[in-house]
Amino acid sequence: MKALITGGAGFIGSHLADLLLEQGHSVIALDNLSTGQHKNIEHLLGRTDFEFVLGSILNADLVDDCVSRSDVVFHLAAAVGVNLIVEKPLESLATNIRGSEIVFEKAHKHGAKVLVTSTSEIYGKNTSDCLGEEDDRILGSPLKSRWSYSEAKAIEEILAYTYYRQKGLSTYIVRLFNTVGPRQTGHYGMVIPRFVSQAVRGETVTVYGDGSQTRCFCFVGDVVKALLALVEHPEAVGRVFNIGGNDEISMDALAHRVIELSGSTSKVRYVPYEEAYEEGFEDMQRRVPDTTRARELIGFAPTAGLDDIIRMVVEYHRA
Ligand code: UDP
Repeated sequence: MKALITGGAGFIGSHLADLLLEQGHSVIALDNLSTGQHKNIEHLLGRTDFEFVLGSILNADLVDDCVSRSDVVFHLAAAVGVNLIVEKPLESLATNIRGSEIVFEKAHKHGAKVLVTSTSEIYGKNTSDCLGEEDDRILGSPLKSRWSYSEAKAIEEILAYTYYRQKGLSTYIVRLFNTVGPRQTGHYGMVIPRFVSQAVRGETVTVYGDGSQTRCFCFVGDVVKALLALVEHPEAVGRVFNIGGNDEISMDALAHRVIELSGSTSKVRYVPYEEAYEEGFEDMQRRVPDTTRARELIGFAPTAGLDDIIRMVVEYHRA
């Protein structure tokens, strides 16, 4: 197939490009390099089955041109990362709502199917044992930047779903939980690249709050395989899927694991949330996905454990 990846030079987008090309598909990667990085796709330049287009999803004519030459759109372009959302709320809203609407409109016009990557932030403060796709969202005020991101991604989901229901566009919604691996940058807040970069430099590792908050991490290689399998599965259309890891770990334990596996002498510092983010910032205490739906439909089962992932990220940061 001819695939368009919006955000194709990003962390997940560039791994997806590698996978699609490996499987014999052709790829257009559209990216404005706001958070994506040229070095992520440098190794693909010059291939006849790969094209890099520098530009924004807010440029409707450009999106129109890219979609017109594609059978499937992987819509990954988004303002992501808690730091970015808190620092640039207006730009983030425009990208995540208006940009997505342009992508869906053009996909409908040209008859391309669209997989959209949503987020576990959708569930907000719901700390249930296992977050299923039908679970409730528990959110703070939309005036807090963090929740505005969750709201924007929810609107994106509604748009995708409504295009499916009302206009027959083939859409696939995937809620990604904490996805990690080489090429992810810590600039926008993501914890593993931040901890690893601090540890390999021998700097203090900054755990926010008391570090008791937990997350489940999933290797990007497992995630992109799931995205491809979903878009190829006829029964995935019009539905929403959680994709994420199974092993729950606290940020305190993660910091110590990273220090140990990188052979670092770094110490841990506990940073209050208001110092790390902004006054009144609310973190998620816990986030564990229920991925039964994806397992049953496409056999989704993460292959890489947390130690493997940390080692890969350490190697990437050293290189
Ligand atoms: N975090 C941390 N130190 C950092 C960056 C993040 O302790 O230097 C914490 C953050 O407060 C959150 C967890 O790590 O509890 C995961 O953060 P990330 O931004 O990677 O993902 P998300 O909050 O979206 O799950």
